[in-house]
Amino acid sequence: MGKFTMAIHGGAGTILKEDMTPELEEAYLRGLKAALDAGYAVLEEGGSSVNAVKAAIVILEDNMLFNAGRGSVFTKKGLQEMDAAIMDGQSLSAGAVCGVRNVRNPIELAEEVMLHSNHIFLSGKGANDFAIKQGIKLEPDEYFFSQFRYDQWKEIRDSDNYSLDHTHQRLDELLREKKFGTVGAVACDDKGNVAAGTSTGGMTNKKYGRIGDSPLIGAGTYANNNTCAISCTGHGERFIQVVAAYDVSCLMEYKGMSLQDAMTIVVKDKLVKIDGEGGMIGVDGKGNAALIFNCAGMYRAFRNNEGSESISIYEE
Ligand code: ASP
Repeated sequence: MGKFTMAIHGGAGTILKEDMTPELEEAYLRGLKAALDAGYAVLEEGGSSVNAVKAAIVILEDNMLFNAGRGSVFTKKGLQEMDAAIMDGQSLSAGAVCGVRNVRNPIELAEEVMLHSNHIFLSGKGANDFAIKQGIKLEPDEYFFSQFRYDQWKEIRDSDNYSLDHTHQRLDELLREKKFGTVGAVACDDKGNVAAGTSTGGMTNKKYGRIGDSPLIGAGTYANNNTCAISCTGHGERFIQVVAAYDVSCLMEYKGMSLQDAMTIVVKDKLVKIDGEGGMIGVDGKGNAALIFNCAGMYRAFRNNEGSESISIYEE
């Protein structure tokens, strides 16, 4: 049996211990562990990296604390519009959706696009129609309502501001600080197949159908057995500009770099140069993992079958 590895993230940004209550910290750590365990269990049973990624992301989407699925932020119109993508590094198959509403688990819809449409990327109403046709689980608007997200949005809805967000900051800090949501997972299974997935509600108060990097193959999500699987979180516009996830793969493929070195260049150098705050998680086909960010914290966890496991929030 080969080495297998699971890694997840729940967003990055100005996440500081002093802003956190012990109860909230505990809830985040519990949420991360539940998702990590769900993904790892798939790998342990000999399942595929795609199924492991999906299992972990579904748990994070169902958790109100994270900006994806149920905990998604409010748009300018006071709705939730969600984006997600999944990619299989063995076949280079991919599926993605953006601007979808009322879909309980957008990552499942992205997988459905990958497996059962002739397309890769569906948007808005068309993606929702496809969800209905395929029998994907839908939920009413109330399912997506959370008081703290509503309060965040209320603070800025009458302005042209938008906010890359996390959850727990004091409202007066919301406009000044950048905190990012989004969830993601990457996995390498015991056959050396890698996969990546990312799911997000995007930015609080977003308008004009704004889409970030998360569902864009190559920007926020990418997987290729020859190199790596990557899921990003952070200021999406910047990640799109540097084609962040694919750039890691290119540095590995064309320059022969290790996963760790390639991710370090993209996150700590290329993104920093254009004020691209955030981070990413990655695995390569040998089961090595890296979790790298250029801001105060990233909700993150990883585990492999050689006994390494960690769940962390802040810089160590
Ligand atoms: N990258 C996501 C976006 O720009 C946001 C995030 O990671 O929090 O939509």
